[in-house]
Amino acid sequence: MDKPVFSKVSSGAGQLMDPFHRQITYLRLSVTDRCDLRCTYCMDENVRFVPRREVLSLEELDRLASSFVALGVRKIRLTGGEPLVRKGIDWLVQRLGRHLQSGALDELTMTSNGTQLPRYAAQLAGAGIKRINISLDSRDPQKFREISRIGELSSVLKGIDAALEVGLKVKINMVAIKGFNEDEIAGMMVWAHEKGMDLTLIEVMPFGDGARWLPNLIGLDDVRVRLGDRFTLEDIPARTGGPARYVKVRETGGLLGLITPMSGNFCDGCNRIRVTCRGRLYQCLGHEQYVDLRATMQEHEDDEALKEAIHQAIAAKPKGHDFAERRSCGTPNVKRDMSSTGG
Ligand code: SAM
Ligand code: SF4
Repeated sequence: MDKPVFSKVSSGAGQLMDPFHRQITYLRLSVTDRCDLRCTYCMDENVRFVPRREVLSLEELDRLASSFVALGVRKIRLTGGEPLVRKGIDWLVQRLGRHLQSGALDELTMTSNGTQLPRYAAQLAGAGIKRINISLDSRDPQKFREISRIGELSSVLKGIDAALEVGLKVKINMVAIKGFNEDEIAGMMVWAHEKGMDLTLIEVMPFGDGARWLPNLIGLDDVRVRLGDRFTLEDIPARTGGPARYVKVRETGGLLGLITPMSGNFCDGCNRIRVTCRGRLYQCLGHEQYVDLRATMQEHEDDEALKEAIHQAIAAKPKGHDFAERRSCGTPNVKRDMSSTGG
């Protein structure tokens, strides 16, 4: 089952199939590595951003995303950094919305910290975005400031309300961190469900500063057991094309997602790839290898060479990450920060 199949790399059109028979239908596209927050698990306090001259233009981002759509990608998530601090993001979202209208794309969505949503929520909804993930690790203003270093909780809460008001379906992403917010998980879930939002918990991953985060890891299986003492958690098969497993909470009627990159590997069904704002295609979140699509785009005006480069990159997609194995040796995984890859 695990043996890679090295099929002939086809050029131009054609589905993206990796060596392990996984069809790639989901692109996470980072539109900037910049952000108006500095979450401690995501970026270094003295983060050095990608020089602006190396960041893809909005037109290049559109060209790249559209090439993936032509190759069978059905879902695009815009991410960052904070996607809504990218100047012209409204233009890009509007532009990509044409693939929703044509039926070539099933879903255009975004992961955001929420702070800019009062300004942009209506435009996102107008472009065809129906669902959005908003990250929120604590509802305590001081703790929120501590984890985000510079953030104001109230600006995120306003952003959440703005998204809900324009009819966006919101899912809250909460990174579970031992000794920091584990006591807030149940309260966050009830609050989210009362507002009609789902909640997804994420195990903290060792990026950037790496092993520093390992002592703060909470295995989400333990969290699930503890929540199970107070709530009735019913397994449901729902998958959104992402790595989360979902349970339905009978008492609240809402969904709880669990993303367990550290305690449980979810790579078998992986249908995703990531492209950074400088055009680097990372075949796997947990590996350093990448393919430079910006160079290909700038060398060739037509899209055939770009599509061929994408095909070749997919043909080299690794089977999975090794977070769990590395964890047991106490070594960090990936030197780059999450903010530079796009979560
Ligand atoms: N700025 C946006 C936001 O915060 O939602 C989008 C980019 S952020 C990198 C995407 C997601 O990655 C967020 O939900 C964030 O909490 C998560 N994330 C960042 N660093 C992480 C880490 N080391 N381990 C687990 N999740 C992380
Ligand atoms: Fe910014 Fe999102 Fe990273 Fe926080 S998690 S620093 S909001 S990119």
